[in-house]
Amino acid sequence: MKYYSLNKKAPKTSFEQAVVKGLAPDKGLYFPEEIQPLDKSFFDNIEQISREEIAFQAIQQFVSPEIPKKVLRQIIKETIDFDFPIVSLNNEISTLELFHGPTMAFKDVGARFMARCLGYFNQNNKEEITVLVATSGDTGGAVAHGFLGVKGIKVVILYPKGKVSNVQEKQLTTLGQNITALEVDGVFDDCQDMVKRAFLDQDLTSKMQLTSANSINVARWLPQMFYFFFTYQQLKSKYKQLVFSVPSGNFGNICAGMIAKKLGLPIEHFIAANNENNVITKFLKTKEYVPEPTIATLSNAMDVSNPSNFVRIQEIYDQDFEVLKKDLTSYFYTDKATEKALIEIKEKYNYIADPHGAIGYLACKDYLKENENVHCVFLETAHPTKFLPTVERVLNETVALPDQIKELMNKKKVAIEISNYGGLKNFLLSK
Ligand SMILES: *Cc1c(COP(=O)(O)O)cnc(C)c1O
Repeated sequence: MKYYSLNKKAPKTSFEQAVVKGLAPDKGLYFPEEIQPLDKSFFDNIEQISREEIAFQAIQQFVSPEIPKKVLRQIIKETIDFDFPIVSLNNEISTLELFHGPTMAFKDVGARFMARCLGYFNQNNKEEITVLVATSGDTGGAVAHGFLGVKGIKVVILYPKGKVSNVQEKQLTTLGQNITALEVDGVFDDCQDMVKRAFLDQDLTSKMQLTSANSINVARWLPQMFYFFFTYQQLKSKYKQLVFSVPSGNFGNICAGMIAKKLGLPIEHFIAANNENNVITKFLKTKEYVPEPTIATLSNAMDVSNPSNFVRIQEIYDQDFEVLKKDLTSYFYTDKATEKALIEIKEKYNYIADPHGAIGYLACKDYLKENENVHCVFLETAHPTKFLPTVERVLNETVALPDQIKELMNKKKVAIEISNYGGLKNFLLSK
């Protein structure tokens, strides 16, 4: 598959180069040149096909020929070796639990897939690749675990001091080996700015191969389509029309679902579930795209004012606003509504959601008010204990930590403190 830049000012490139570079030289996001729908027989027989085979069929065209079939099968096997259970709340609403991976966040899927692709491309260790990533919480842990021990790759994670949860901090500071955590005296935006500056700093880029590991990278973004297929496989015989409610920040997850639909997966509709960072809700109403300053919320993984993957969504829909509107609805909710939803889900269904999933649930409910004969699946994007202080305060009860988290809390944090870009640069050059 060839990839082109959505800024259209860079040459087409291979999957390998798209993964290694992350962003095109014209700063555009890479997008696959053509998307070939899968055979009808694949969907007819999907209940008889293994999960690994489904994932293989879904992604093969996007990574060939550079990743040989045999290698791809192995990468997939390692990427999805955990469960993706669906829990039904009632006849109209289910939740897809995406938190059964090593860091209990859906980002594990993309991070593990990307790590293995990059590891394969870099197996001869010609030049070490440094993955540089800023995190407000979940990305760091998923990337750290995904890349742990991958030969030829160093991972440097910047996180804002005191601004990530205890669990999240432990997940990115206790691994060692090829993973280094930099604790930044600042907020997430400072971390993000430093990373961006590093990518533009020729002093650095002439000396080392830097790449990113957020959802702008095609190898992290595309595998997120797998679990839309797995959901269809499990619910196909029960419900005719499936709608997905996706708690969205940078819109990578929902955009991967749209690629699945392009491949022929019968998805009736998408709902972008948002907090008060609601640029897309407004856009779908007014056709005007006006990013505003980020608002801090309880669902902080969605505190994004200018979602980076929205340009990809527009490309999928050929920049046609009306066609996009047929497939996409967006609702947004306040922290107050989020808290009420956490309580409602617990009281009505005896289920503990996290703040992001709770917003997905609300969006399902609102959509179902206006649409009949559909089944709405909201994505539980993280385990509730990753947002323990909020969940315990709102539900007014203690929530037991899963064993893997308990173990983690006993490990020792190792991080290097930095306060500005000079600190980052010195660190990178000193290695
Ligand atoms: C990253 C994240 C999101 C947002 O996903 P996007 O692909 O950026 O839209 C939602 N919920 C949680 C818990 C996350 O970590």
